[in-house]
Amino acid sequence: MTCVDCGGTLHPLSYPPEDGWEPGDVVAYRCPDCNERFDIVLGDPDDTDDTDTY
Ligand SMILES: [Zn+2]
Repeated sequence: MTCVDCGGTLHPLSYPPEDGWEPGDVVAYRCPDCNERFDIVLGDPDDTDDTDTY
């Protein structure tokens, strides 16, 4: 996961649940470089589309 603003590495603000993330879960990430926060909705892992165009 890369910051679209500065290219830094995003770190999740919360730990994954015991059963792991599920599609549709919203995970908050923060960029340590520019302090920007991103709320990312996890997609269906079976969806092979490249959804990087966020
Ligand atoms: Zn950043």
